[in-house]
Amino acid sequence: NSVVNKIAAGEVIERPASVVKELIENSIDSGALRVEVDIGAGGSEYIRVTDDGGGIHADDILLAVTTHATSKIRTADDLFQISTLGFRGEALASIAEVSQLKIRSRIPDSDVGSELVVNLGERGDVVPCGCAAGTCIEIRQLFANTPVRRKFLKSDATEFGHISEQFTRIALARSHVHMVLRHNDKIVYELPATDRLIDRLEMFYGTAISEQLISIDHQLGEMRLWGYVGHPAVNKATRKWQHLFLNGRWFQDRSIQHALSEAYRGLIMVQRHPICFLFLELNPADVDVNVHPTKVEVRFQDPQSIYRLMLSSLRNRFLGMDL
Ligand code: ADP
Ligand code: MG
Repeated sequence: NSVVNKIAAGEVIERPASVVKELIENSIDSGALRVEVDIGAGGSEYIRVTDDGGGIHADDILLAVTTHATSKIRTADDLFQISTLGFRGEALASIAEVSQLKIRSRIPDSDVGSELVVNLGERGDVVPCGCAAGTCIEIRQLFANTPVRRKFLKSDATEFGHISEQFTRIALARSHVHMVLRHNDKIVYELPATDRLIDRLEMFYGTAISEQLISIDHQLGEMRLWGYVGHPAVNKATRKWQHLFLNGRWFQDRSIQHALSEAYRGLIMVQRHPICFLFLELNPADVDVNVHPTKVEVRFQDPQSIYRLMLSSLRNRFLGMDL
């Protein structure tokens, strides 16, 4: 099992940013409205994610670090109706295999929390502890027993850059969650909760960003596409500014990127990689998100209808703008 976990860790946990992504996603899945992320030395010293979500029951803490013991999927049918960010039940087990992982958690109904330390796969005892309602998970000595992976880590600044990117992707998709990111005890982002995406975009990219964007909101049957794309006359042509979300999860898709570029074709300023912050909402049954361990790629049941939705929503919007 330890070998299996180590292999799984290799697939899911590539670098500190992968740990950060998995931990924040778990916090979001637990219903947290406040998530704080603390990073020491690009994640090589420590990674700590603290949330005010539903917590983990003392009886379930060991399960949380057991491979494939997810609390989020109960039946095979659930796999086709995924509404949580996690569902594979391997992230914590994988992380615990290649680091020292400490969980402290308390469900709101309980007076006392519980704590568990797993050291490179060796589990300690679950002990009671005092802690705030919610969960705090701290990772130290990441990749201590996988020296090759440890050796391939880049500078603290580079690793933190990747962490910041993962944090940003989730923060854009969950503007109703108050999120904080600190590096070496210094605040990098402090994002109050808001119900408007544009507010959060301004927190990340400055108030000038709103002048460069136009809003999209298009419904077609069960599908909805909404968010912002770059104004055709404003040229910020880099993939760094392309953010696509499927049912609240950041993802990548060549075909959709193609549709996006197509929509801009022939307009005054040809943008090869137009900016976008677009949210696609579909019936979860119409898409398979379980094709890739880190879930960055998905498989649509009807990719052509997504392509057309993308192209026509943007084209229609541009037509109405008299460019
Ligand atoms: P998955 O998210 O795919 O279910 P993980 O390995 O990421 O698997 O987490 C295992 C389980 O631990 C989750 O299903 C959940 O029950 C529990 N868990 C992990 N993190 C938290 C958290 N921050 N708050 C509440 N429960 C958590
Ligand atoms: Mg998870």
